[in-house]
Amino acid sequence: MSNATPYKVYLTESELPKQWYNLRADMKNKPAPLLNPATGKPATFAELSRVFCDELARQELDDSTKFIDIPQEVLDFYKMYRPSPLVHAEFLERALGTPAKIYYKFEGNNTSGSHKLNSAIAQVYYAKQQGLKRVTTETGAGQWGTAVAMACAFFKLQCHVFMVKVSYEQKPFRREVMRTYGATVTPSPSTTTEAGRRILAEFPGTSGSLGCAISEAVEEAVNTSDCRYVLGSVLSQVLLHQSVIGLETQLALQKLGVKPDIIIGCAGGGSNLGGLIAPFAGEKLRGEADYQLLAVEPASCPSLTRGVYAYDYCDTGKICPLQKMYTLGSGFIPSPNHAGGLRYHGMSAVLSQLYHDRVMDAVSVTQSEVFEAAELFARTEGTLPAPESSHAICQAIKEALKCKKNGEAKTIVFGLTGTGYFDLAAYQKYNDNEMTDYIPTDAELAASFQNLPNF
Ligand SMILES: *Cc1c(COP(=O)(O)O)cnc(C)c1O
Repeated sequence: MSNATPYKVYLTESELPKQWYNLRADMKNKPAPLLNPATGKPATFAELSRVFCDELARQELDDSTKFIDIPQEVLDFYKMYRPSPLVHAEFLERALGTPAKIYYKFEGNNTSGSHKLNSAIAQVYYAKQQGLKRVTTETGAGQWGTAVAMACAFFKLQCHVFMVKVSYEQKPFRREVMRTYGATVTPSPSTTTEAGRRILAEFPGTSGSLGCAISEAVEEAVNTSDCRYVLGSVLSQVLLHQSVIGLETQLALQKLGVKPDIIIGCAGGGSNLGGLIAPFAGEKLRGEADYQLLAVEPASCPSLTRGVYAYDYCDTGKICPLQKMYTLGSGFIPSPNHAGGLRYHGMSAVLSQLYHDRVMDAVSVTQSEVFEAAELFARTEGTLPAPESSHAICQAIKEALKCKKNGEAKTIVFGLTGTGYFDLAAYQKYNDNEMTDYIPTDAELAASFQNLPNF
């Protein structure tokens, strides 16, 4: 089969985006403001800047500046692993026998193994600019902690990572990557913070959760001099930094003369998806073009498809600002047989609003179908995908097969957020036919919603 389009499109260095795009500026219905849990009033710059460094607190509150310059030092770092390629998945298309065209934007070509480095380097840069000496953060599957460790090594800041205990134990090699870049890694919940001690007292033997690790990292940041907290997803500032993915994708597609019909991303806290779709959602909101924008989440942690749109705590310890979002309740912890990331209880406020306004759709997929898709992708396109990314692959395949059935040649673009080298325990389960699906019952979700705050 001969193919007119190139297999991979790389932008040139001079074509790389010099500014991030702030989708909030084009949203008529802005995401609801963060609330101070103590006062119930919108969180102010003064409050946010105790937790985040000043520039990031400003970006978090900025829903009107459309384009924000990417600092030169960050552009310099981006050069080491960007542009990321936009790949025409012709081998996958051939295996599926579909008339659809499938493209993916591959963000796994750096040591952290995912898109998270795009925001980590920006956040650590602003911390450095402010004269801070250290940052704290949490990590679940480990990609974010690794990205922050790499960024801190580059800008010579200290880095303390609270790693969800179950991952700390299951992914010792992730931990070693972080330590190699100079980070200190503590399993969470730990006894080093008030929040950790409280959670350990209430749930002895808990394997930890992202919400709990966030509480610990925030607590340490606000109680330590020259220290702030950095977060890898959910926040609007993170989606802003990740817009570099969408901007590159948009330009690469323009160069190919291709207009996508469907744009798909996996959704944990929403950062890669929010970044990938940002410029396309902007066109849609401004009435310039129409696209189907699709979030894919695990059936075991279905915040958009089965959650409620309400103010909720972002962390288990209830010390962070409240965010209005689609949520499963801050106490929700996905079943332990759920592999990989995408286990956060809530969703980005920006994406929650877009979903609420029907600008973006969402679906959920089960773990076994995700790994089937991952296997087919690895065998056809060559790259071993992260389980998180494989949610997007899974839905892209479903859409391509729909096209085959209906004889439609749609163009599908999805985000391949990372590689799966540290997820081989999950692949082993799949290969040994031991992978199970656990989908929470309505009763379980209803019980979790009982604990939503009244705001
Ligand atoms: C963290 C991560 C995700 C999910 O996070 P989002 O903020 O929803 O993008 C997806 N894929 C990979 C590889 C990740 O590391």
